[in-house]
Amino acid sequence: MAPWGIYVHIPVCPYKCAYCDFDSGVYPEPMVSAYLAALREEIARTSAVLSPDDLVADTIYIGGGTPSLLDPETLGDLLRTIRHHFVIRPEAEITLEANPGTITVEKARALRQLGVNRVSLGAQTFSERDLRVLGRRHTVEQIGESVALLREAGVENVNLDLLIGIPGQSLGSWEQAMDRAFSLRPTHLSVYMLEVHEGTPLAAQLVRGVLVEPDEALTVQMYDRFLERAEAEGYEHYEISNFSHPGFASRHNLKYWSDEPYLGFGCSAHSYDFRERRWNLATPWAYVEAMRERGEAVAGRIPMTEQRRIEDALMLGLRRRSGVDLRAFRDRYGVDVLDRYGDQLASLCEAGLVEIGGGILRLTRKGLVLANEVFAVFV
Ligand code: SF4
Repeated sequence: MAPWGIYVHIPVCPYKCAYCDFDSGVYPEPMVSAYLAALREEIARTSAVLSPDDLVADTIYIGGGTPSLLDPETLGDLLRTIRHHFVIRPEAEITLEANPGTITVEKARALRQLGVNRVSLGAQTFSERDLRVLGRRHTVEQIGESVALLREAGVENVNLDLLIGIPGQSLGSWEQAMDRAFSLRPTHLSVYMLEVHEGTPLAAQLVRGVLVEPDEALTVQMYDRFLERAEAEGYEHYEISNFSHPGFASRHNLKYWSDEPYLGFGCSAHSYDFRERRWNLATPWAYVEAMRERGEAVAGRIPMTEQRRIEDALMLGLRRRSGVDLRAFRDRYGVDVLDRYGDQLASLCEAGLVEIGGGILRLTRKGLVLANEVFAVFV
C-alpha cells in the first residue's frame, strides 16, 4: 500500500463567516476538549486494525475550521498522537490551515518546532470591503503580517486561498488583490469561485437585495485573468484551482486527484483505501457522541467497484492540468478510455471542453470553468 495522506478536521472557528455552510463554529471549551479526545480515540482505533506495513504516512493535513486557533500544546498533542500510531516519513509534508490574525510570533515558531512545514492561509481577498462582505474579521494587513511571521519562523511553504465571485467584487479590486497576493510571493495559491449557500447570512443579504448577485461572466473573466497573471509570475497551474511555484504543489491534495489512499479523522472527514470510500458524521456533536457510544463515527460508505474506481480516477485525473495519460491509465486500470468513452469524448471535444494530444486527455481552458459538465459525462 502507498503511504497514507492523513487528514484531521478541526471544526473550531473564532467566528462564523457570512458565506460559510460548513459544520464549523465557535464551540465552548468542554466541547473542544471532548472533540479532541474523540479524535485521539479515532486515530488509535483506526490504526489498531491496520497491518503494521500499512501504518506509513507521508502527508498530514490539519484543516477545518480554523485549526490555527488551537494553542501549540494542543496541536503538539495531536501531532504526537498521530506519530505514536503511524510512521510519519521524515520528509512528510505537514500542513496546517490558518486564519490571518491567529498567527503570532510565538505561534509561528511553535508550529515550525512541531514539524509544520506548510501553512495554508485563508486570505480570501485583499480588499477590506470584500472581507467585510464575507464576514471575515481579519484585515488585509494581517495577511501580509502572517506570511512574514511564518517566513521568519522558517515556514517558507505558504498557500493563500483566494475567492472570486464575491458579490460586488469588481475586476479592478480583483486586479489589486492579485497585485497584493503576488507581491507576497507565496509558494502556492488556490483560487475558488465563491458558492452562495442557502441559509447563510450572505444568501439572506442577496435575497433582501442588500448585495447584488455576482455576475458569472465577470467571475469567469477574473479566473481567466488569474491564469494569465499566475503564468507570468512563474506559477505552475497544476489543478483547476491550484497554482504553485515549481516543486511546491500540495503533496497531500495531489493524493486526492491521483487515486492514492487517505485517512480522514474528525467530523465530515473522508477516507479512501482503494476498496471503499467512507465519511464521518458531519457535526462535531454527532461525531463526539458516536465515538463515545460506538467507538466509530462513520456516516456512510461506498464500496469501490471497478467501474466506480475508473470513473473517479478519470474525473479526478482530469482536474490535474497534466491530464490523464491514456497509456498509464490503461496499464493501471485495464481500460482503454478512448474505447469505453469514445462517444462522450467526441462530443466533449466538439464542444471544446476537452482535448486529446500526445496520448494525454485534458480539459481545455473552456473546460476548466465548465469542468462539472465534463465530469457529469463519466458517471
Ligand atoms: S473560517 Fe472557514 S470554516 Fe470557519 S467560519 Fe469562516 S469559512 Fe467557515
